[in-house]
Amino acid sequence: MTIILHSMAEVRAWRTAVASAGPIGFVPTMGALHAGHLSLIALARQRAATTIASIFVNPLQFGPAEDLDRYPRPIVQDIALLEAAGTDALFLPEVAELYREGASTFVVEEAVSTPLCGATRPGHFRGVTTIVLKLFNIVQPDFAAFGQKDAQQCAVIERMVRDLNLPVEIVRGAIVREADGLALSSRNRYLSTQQRRAAPAIQASLQAARAAFDAGERRASALAAIGRSVLQREPAITLDYWEVCHPGTLQSLDNVGSDGAMLAVAACLGSTRLIDNLLVPPGL
Ligand code: AMP
Repeated sequence: MTIILHSMAEVRAWRTAVASAGPIGFVPTMGALHAGHLSLIALARQRAATTIASIFVNPLQFGPAEDLDRYPRPIVQDIALLEAAGTDALFLPEVAELYREGASTFVVEEAVSTPLCGATRPGHFRGVTTIVLKLFNIVQPDFAAFGQKDAQQCAVIERMVRDLNLPVEIVRGAIVREADGLALSSRNRYLSTQQRRAAPAIQASLQAARAAFDAGERRASALAAIGRSVLQREPAITLDYWEVCHPGTLQSLDNVGSDGAMLAVAACLGSTRLIDNLLVPPGL
């Protein structure tokens, strides 16, 4: 039975009641749950005595022209999926519960959050770090699980945890994909049939660059050119970025060195923006 908690006070009381059972694992989400989210619940359940998820579509991380209003909110289905996955509790707050009128304190990470999505979505990571710190303060988990699909988000949160001495361990879960390679995303449901058919080219572009890496190519410009050329063959796809960056700092590289690299792509199909990434060498 998944207990549904709406207020901070309810979460705190619940936390006090379960604390003696052992470690608390936390999976923050924006809902519209799919197998990627559920893999993080499974990961948390392996390590935690008690697992709590949150569903909160965080207005602070959406830009003015982005999809906050139309973001899917299938809450009845989400609760059923969390139940079936064995989640102990769900924090399901309203916006007013988390953001008071006149809130004027925010968390800003200034290095890892600047390239890639930070460059094309100004303010996005400020919204992410602020809500994640707030959720950590409310839930006070021993660890929290985040998906490698949002690798930059993982890196930004890990840096925040390190820099602000937060007593939370961050665990990364592998990317869950459709059979044709498309990374699962709540936004995939926006895609038309034609766009859905084109979307696996995003992953294919990463695989093409990886094949070149495996064959010995180490120049970032050459790897990126290979990836971009795969996407350019798909008229339904508009490229946002296709970058070869350091897997830790996310700064762009000239050549892939001994630390390996993250190949990162963001692309739009109509107004739907999707991201994906791949680490080289594999298993990094
Ligand atoms: P979201 O609801 O999009 O904010 O995602 C909530 C969490 O699920 C984040 O940590 C995401 O990185 C993770 N996630 C989203 N899609 C996937 C996926 N395809 N595989 C693994 N984790 C994912």
